[in-house]
Amino acid sequence: MNKPIYMDYAATTYVKPEVLDEMIPYFTEHFGNPSSIYSLSRETKKAIDKARDRVAKAINADSNEIYFTGGGSEADNWALKGIAFAHKNKGNHIITTTIEHHAILHACEYLEKNGFEITYLPVDEYGFIKIEDLEKAISDKTILVSIMFANNEIGTIQPINEIGKLCREKKVLFHTDAVQAVGNVNIDVKEMNIDLLSMAAHKIYGPKGTGALYIKKGVKIDNLVHGGGQERSKRAGTENVAGIVGLGKAIELASENMEAHSKKLTELRDRLIEGLLKIPYSRLNGPVGEKRLPGNANICFRFIEGEAILLLLDHMGICASSGSACTSGSLDPSHVLLAIGLPHEIAHGSLRLSMGDGTTVEDVDYVIETVEKVVSRLRDMSPLWDDFIKKGDK
Ligand SMILES: *Cc1c(COP(=O)(O)O)cnc(C)c1O
Repeated sequence: MNKPIYMDYAATTYVKPEVLDEMIPYFTEHFGNPSSIYSLSRETKKAIDKARDRVAKAINADSNEIYFTGGGSEADNWALKGIAFAHKNKGNHIITTTIEHHAILHACEYLEKNGFEITYLPVDEYGFIKIEDLEKAISDKTILVSIMFANNEIGTIQPINEIGKLCREKKVLFHTDAVQAVGNVNIDVKEMNIDLLSMAAHKIYGPKGTGALYIKKGVKIDNLVHGGGQERSKRAGTENVAGIVGLGKAIELASENMEAHSKKLTELRDRLIEGLLKIPYSRLNGPVGEKRLPGNANICFRFIEGEAILLLLDHMGICASSGSACTSGSLDPSHVLLAIGLPHEIAHGSLRLSMGDGTTVEDVDYVIETVEKVVSRLRDMSPLWDDFIKKGDK
């Protein structure tokens, strides 16, 4: 194996050359602080405006509704804490789900320690929330609903239209973590009644450490980062100009290519899933069809550990994940897999493969073949498998 086969695009992507090309002058030539008055800074200010327009256009927002952040986690934290503290006189209740990214779940835990009440909506076996559950959970004290657009582990795309409509009817603010959805799914914040939306550049072939929060005009929100007057005094800190330029270019490319990109990835995904499910005692996690993220496959293999699969795959030149990047390294099974009802012992044997621009049919076929070998090798060494074979039961 020369170059590894990268199947972890949901963890991060490389930066596209066109994106990097646009960024480079903002490290070297156009380095002026956008807040300065001289003409050297005019170029950086203009570049930020252009990026803001591009981001706004991609989600049908207005440019003055886009605020740049230091990534997806910051945008998520800002949405939750900023809304919670700005609306605490109205109520202290927030609704989210059990399958959110840790940037949401851990921010919620922090808010719980500070007097807020959080309802974690359950999901069904495919990872979908039920609209009736959401409707029942909304009370007079509810100030925010935060439900992710698409799940990073099992690819479930939530019924965002219905959620947005309900929240608007009930006059409750609606935030969505769209870090995985941007570039893969059509997003229209106006039509979908979204009040706040998080995104990150490094999941769409842009740089790490740059993201944005869309905040609908008129929505009251506290600052998360206090300091200077940048981002219309809502997010302090000298702008990451090159990063912002990169996000702008990356999201523009993603929007232009979305249809072809999704079609290609959907075909690769279905080929991969079909191949992997031929392995005995395997199961697909998450939905099939168009309610699943185009590039996502997540499979459990009984009787073996996900971590062991990853190590052997790495050895064979394949980069994969057992769930979210944040939980790999710990032996707890994924909270998402537990939330869709899998018992611990099955959730432990999970493998997430996420594909992107660089993935080819040959990659997919090699991965299917290799996973098959790895799984059977690990089962040969597994006492659980041994017991199972001897007992011949289920
Ligand atoms: C990656 C990711 C985040 C975190 O974004 P960072 O830019 O890495 O901070 C948040 N939510 C989801 C769904 C993600 O996939």
